[in-house]
Amino acid sequence: MIGTTAPIVKLETCRAIREYMFGGSAKITVVSNKTNLDLVFKIKDAGKNRFWVYVRYEATPKQKKRKSDKPYKKEYKGKYIGTIINNKWFPNAATLHYVSQRAFAWLWSFLKDHRMPTKCIIYHKGTCRRCEADLTSPKSILKGIGPCCEKLVKERLL
Ligand SMILES: [Zn+2]
Repeated sequence: MIGTTAPIVKLETCRAIREYMFGGSAKITVVSNKTNLDLVFKIKDAGKNRFWVYVRYEATPKQKKRKSDKPYKKEYKGKYIGTIINNKWFPNAATLHYVSQRAFAWLWSFLKDHRMPTKCIIYHKGTCRRCEADLTSPKSILKGIGPCCEKLVKERLL
């Protein structure tokens, strides 16, 4: 998909968000309606009903600006911010000061009760929720899962 922009698939319902984020290796983007700041979270299935949560960017408004920097953002290569165990959020004590960690805790306060979070838009960028591969067919993009992974998930459910 070189030279093309990644698709943006908005997750419109709480069910769609949860299905995608618990797919195995999912990346979701959360955009605040208020500040327009976007955060990318990665949710990794660690087995036994545990999901590790990482953030790709941390908002750092105090950061000294350089020309090469994207405004107010500093990239972290997947910083671990906490774990969801049996539907309960356990934040990483080392990242309690992170804006992104607080943002995720807020987001989860809705999703844990199957409520749709307000004041934000949540989407994925056309990657498979189970294996992170770039999806190519429009059908797969919409489903958020590739045909091979879909088959595996179905087989496991049977
Ligand atoms: Zn896949």
